[in-house]
Amino acid sequence: MNLSKTKYTNANQCLKMLWLDTYMNEVKGEVDNDSILDNGNNVHEVARDLLGSHVTIEFNKNLEVMIDDTKKALEKDNIVICEASFLYKNNFCSVDILEKKGKDLYLYEVKGSTSMKDVFLHDMSFQYYVLTSLGYNIKKYYLVYLNNKYYRQGKLNLNKLFTKVDVTDKIIELQDHVISKLKEINNYMQEKKVPGDDIDLKCFKPYACPYWKYCTRNLPKPNVFDIYKLNKQKMIGYYKENIITFKDLEKVNLNSNQMMQIEYELNDKDDYINKDNIRKFLNTLTYPLYFLDFETFQLPIPKYDNTCAYQKIPFQYSLHYIEKGKLYHKEFLGSKKDPRRELAERLISDIPENVCVLAYNMGFEKGVIKNLAYLFPDLKEHLLNIYDNIKDLMIPFQKKDYYNKLMKGSYSIKYVLPALFPNEKELDYHNLELVHNGSEAMSYYDTLFDKPISEQEYIRKCLLEYCKLDTYAMVMIYEKLLEVTNNKIKIKKIK
Ligand code: SF4
Repeated sequence: MNLSKTKYTNANQCLKMLWLDTYMNEVKGEVDNDSILDNGNNVHEVARDLLGSHVTIEFNKNLEVMIDDTKKALEKDNIVICEASFLYKNNFCSVDILEKKGKDLYLYEVKGSTSMKDVFLHDMSFQYYVLTSLGYNIKKYYLVYLNNKYYRQGKLNLNKLFTKVDVTDKIIELQDHVISKLKEINNYMQEKKVPGDDIDLKCFKPYACPYWKYCTRNLPKPNVFDIYKLNKQKMIGYYKENIITFKDLEKVNLNSNQMMQIEYELNDKDDYINKDNIRKFLNTLTYPLYFLDFETFQLPIPKYDNTCAYQKIPFQYSLHYIEKGKLYHKEFLGSKKDPRRELAERLISDIPENVCVLAYNMGFEKGVIKNLAYLFPDLKEHLLNIYDNIKDLMIPFQKKDYYNKLMKGSYSIKYVLPALFPNEKELDYHNLELVHNGSEAMSYYDTLFDKPISEQEYIRKCLLEYCKLDTYAMVMIYEKLLEVTNNKIKIKKIK
């Protein structure tokens, strides 16, 4: 088995992860990472121009080809090589950017992160080990990551977009660790059966392990890892004390919301509804009543002027509103250019000043509107008026004034909606075509304009349907709150 820098890093987190990756990859699960587009490659491609002209070693399944191409490129005294590839005793690595000046090498490891993380040093130290073992003289080793204080204006300024930190000394310090870890890996990988390594904090840090489902497959359900908002350290602590089932957890000191989750689950209790508090919340709302939801995308490399790495860019919204007992709908979906100006203009034309606006988990919608107000001073007054009039539909669920066991302790709309409407097909996101969640929405929007026109129309339709369901679901939740407080009004849908 060739060990790559990724495999080495995985082994540093957990040797069993590397073992499963190598011998039982089919049990690998998904890791939830829904907020950011997987654009790591884009970062690497952009960073390649950091040192000016360069050659790139093209990927080849046959690693020998990449290694030979690298050797040939290194025959030159002064050269910049991207993806220079090396093999030392089954340890393989490709260096993001390598600069050769005479006999000295300067290495650059590029990360799509906006901060320095210790875990980066592990794959860098592995690469340093490989190259120095082959006899190369590494003068300096730099970690290169994104600077989210840089706002694009016109052409990207790569020297401002990327932060460069000299970590040579830290990498040298880690060399003893690399040598002992490689020995440990070699021994561990001799195991013929699945090793018995137990779960621990390493399963979550530095990355959520994709084998979690497999490693916890024999635990009773629900268990300590299903307790909402219990910190990981406490979860692992209870697990090690063999306090695993909800029955076991009844005896420990958890917060009142967590105890409620356990109590409702164990006793199969009916819905808890605090009508007085829900009425108080509903009394703060006025008609016409608006329901707003944005979709945003985040890109590591800023695409538009006045944006920075990973800035949330709103590209779509859905807006339902109830006026005089009738339900109306409006929507916006951006076109190819920066969608923000058009979106802001449409938003202030769709939402009058001084009306009540509901969002679910309003911090997100408020953040988007505040950024738009800051960006467009001529629209600021109206945008901030909308901002000031937003109320949060999440409140009754967050305060546990309405709870049922299907919410599993959570007040996120992901749990609340199916808990309130378990058999409602029109509220089930699984029944939508193509776009079923926020990460799919941002990913389809990101590539939308590269597609043929006919395909674009279909994707746009699916994006609109998805976002529309978000605010329609809010209307239904609002109706449910009216219903349980004996305050039902008839809302007529207008096409
Ligand atoms: S879930 Fe935990 S124990 Fe299992 S492979 Fe992953 S890190 Fe290792």
